[in-house]
Amino acid sequence: MPCPYKNMTAHWTIDGVREALAARKISARELTREFFGRIAARNAELNAFLALSPERAYAKADEIDAAIADGELLPPLAGVPVAIKDVLSTRGTTTTCGSKILEHYVPPYDATAVERLEAAGAVILGKTNCDEFAMGSSNENSAYGAVRNPAAVERVPGGSSGGSAAAIAAGLAVVSLGTDTGGSIRQPGAFCGVPAMMGSYGRVSRYGLIAFASSLDRIGPFANNVKDVAAVLEVIAGRDANDSTSTTVPVPRYSEEIGKSVKGLRIGIPREYFGDGMDAGVRGKIEAGIEIFRKLGCELVDIRMPHTDYAIATYYIIATAEASSNLARYDGVRFGLRAKGDSLLAMYKNTRGQGFGAEVKRRIVLGTYVLSAGYYDAYYLKGQKVRALIAKDFLDAYLKVDAIVTPTSPVPAFKLGERTADPLQMYLADIYTVTGSLAGVPGISVPCGKIGGELPVGLQVFGPAFGEGRVLQLAHAFEAAGGATV
Ligand code: GLN
Repeated sequence: MPCPYKNMTAHWTIDGVREALAARKISARELTREFFGRIAARNAELNAFLALSPERAYAKADEIDAAIADGELLPPLAGVPVAIKDVLSTRGTTTTCGSKILEHYVPPYDATAVERLEAAGAVILGKTNCDEFAMGSSNENSAYGAVRNPAAVERVPGGSSGGSAAAIAAGLAVVSLGTDTGGSIRQPGAFCGVPAMMGSYGRVSRYGLIAFASSLDRIGPFANNVKDVAAVLEVIAGRDANDSTSTTVPVPRYSEEIGKSVKGLRIGIPREYFGDGMDAGVRGKIEAGIEIFRKLGCELVDIRMPHTDYAIATYYIIATAEASSNLARYDGVRFGLRAKGDSLLAMYKNTRGQGFGAEVKRRIVLGTYVLSAGYYDAYYLKGQKVRALIAKDFLDAYLKVDAIVTPTSPVPAFKLGERTADPLQMYLADIYTVTGSLAGVPGISVPCGKIGGELPVGLQVFGPAFGEGRVLQLAHAFEAAGGATV
């Protein structure tokens, strides 16, 4: 049945949904049906969704429609169609982590972030594709096939939250959630040309997020504009008794911080982020993007972050160490895949041998090695020390500046298959994002033009810990000044 709403835009915003619902131009049920229709039309090509939850979605939509009919005050995300990365637990809907080992796993509970979205009125459409256990930068490590980038379909969408980024870029959801351990929200946001944010470590509860590296993992939103990113973050942030690392720092009204003038703010431009290895097209767009901040009245400050060079090595020691420990639970005994074996040990080996893909195995081996007796001091402990130095680079910088601006990725979206043979090449794609992950600070990627009018570039804004409001304020000002088309 065609949708009765005539002014159907490809990219809805939260305000757009609210206005259309309030004016009764469309019902929440019709809007939900429209989005399932879009997914049906595009997903065979893009592979952005792994599972859909129509029953849950329509039940929520009907609840919203009833509230509208009764003239009730609507919650902030009423009727907004959302997509959830498949590492976040969803009650009653498969949560595979892009892995064969969890192919049929259906969680009995919702992640706190999912629960909070739904409590705010959001309509959960389904689960999005990702690199296996969020390990990757291209989405090609998914056991369920790669995702295509809607901006250039022969290219990767970035990773690991590739499906969540692609869903927004293709107009298959209005907002989505991803997770970021070393760049997995920001880099796919950059590759697909949509704003994408990770808050400070501890800002959003990780309860129900299936762990990759617990000291780094964060949940955050993708949306069509910075205002919507702010609105979603506001809903999912805040203390949760189920995650002891979630903080009691109060959640500001982010939507009120954006729109304030950025005049006079000091922006640090770290020299270390503009070295060799950056694509010339990316460099050109980022330089033009920085000019926008100058025109907005920001003061640009040349800064140094001397430990940046060690970030990739440090990240791949700490993240793999934590992963090797977190992934020990997939043993075929309690949940997920169980392969046959003549003995308990054979069953363990067969389950893990068949259930995990090559990249996950590589990381478990690496992580187990850096934690093993004799190597712990040389690698893991050293890595922790360097992590502290990288965090100190940020603290030192924030004595001089209010925020830091860098490219999100040194390269734009690359072609499918182009980097799969060389894991090190793939790891280097995270060079500008892992620093902020190790330091625990918030970061956003905002669209900063397109190379050749086709390939999106992302500009990254880092703020100090719990300075999400400042990050959003700068990103919003950049977007409003035409950042997406520099
Ligand atoms: N690409 C990085 C990795 O492969 C980051 C992944 C992530 O942030 N989840 O580990």
